[in-house]
Amino acid sequence: MADKRARRLAEFIRPLRVKPGSKVDLGEDFDPRYKGKLKKRDSSELLKNGVSLLAEYQDRLAAQDTYGVLLCLQALDAGGKDGTIRHVMSGVNPQGVHVSSFKVPSTEELDHDYLWRYASRLPARGDIGIFNRSHYEEVLVVRVHPENLERQRVPEESRGPGVWKRRYRDINNWERHLTGNGFKVVKIFLNLSREEQRTRFMKRIDLPEKNWKFSAADVRERRRWDDYQHAFSEMLSATSTPWAPWYVVPADRKWFARICAAAILAHTLIELDPQYPTVDARARRELKEARRELLKQAPEGAPADPYAAEHPDRRPGR
Ligand code: AMP
Ligand code: MG
Repeated sequence: MADKRARRLAEFIRPLRVKPGSKVDLGEDFDPRYKGKLKKRDSSELLKNGVSLLAEYQDRLAAQDTYGVLLCLQALDAGGKDGTIRHVMSGVNPQGVHVSSFKVPSTEELDHDYLWRYASRLPARGDIGIFNRSHYEEVLVVRVHPENLERQRVPEESRGPGVWKRRYRDINNWERHLTGNGFKVVKIFLNLSREEQRTRFMKRIDLPEKNWKFSAADVRERRRWDDYQHAFSEMLSATSTPWAPWYVVPADRKWFARICAAAILAHTLIELDPQYPTVDARARRELKEARRELLKQAPEGAPADPYAAEHPDRRPGR
């Protein structure tokens, strides 16, 4: 059953995966309106199934306390990162999930190496960490606006030619280090079309309750659309690795993007296959002793084991 589910999920997400070593041209290779064979009318049922699968596996991940998962979400403005997080994580135990949003770096953050602030927000074992924007901003917004490099006060020799290649290499190595230590890195790029971004911006301007989501900087960044597409293409080509591949999720339809994100995360967890810990012989003996002691404490007229009385199918030893 789990195998069949895993195979179906793997098949569904395969077209979204950036093959490590391939050269990506975003505009040519990925269609923001793609939706496979899915229909919108089936979407809420599918998402519901995905969310409950995630809840089940997150519980096991936390119980096993050996692996952690880091989900990096990248997108252009209005790409749907916030909504994706809200919907996909809606069913999981909030204790096991930590969302970190990365904005313009603070003075303290700029005083450190460029990976410092991301490293300080990594998930612990048993946790799912979500990066709403991530270390990839360091090769996206910083690349499109190189004045950010000046603000980072990186020494001259580390800023010169080859800076982006070096950053890709550093990031790949960092993610390899994390993976080797039990932290699986999953990377999703929500791929929005230029026209759908315009539509979403218009909505944010037209509806007063959405105004807070819009900033003048958003239209300024939009003017650099082609530069961002280029930076994204280069980044996807250089940093989709066998240990931490990128997934390009078509984002013009929010319902489809959310199903994809849930499927990618579920697939990752199924592959990790976290198991509930079992107890050893000594701990089992202790459990038995404790059980005997508690059975003796049953008040007059009460069942000796009230739980077993209510759940005859879950009696110990079954
Ligand atoms: P938002 O996610 O819409 O609240 O906006 C956060 C803003 O922070 C975006 O405009 C990002 O481009 C910007 N930002 C995030 N990370 C960095 C970074 N490392 N350097 C400069 N700007 C950044
Ligand atoms: Mg914004």
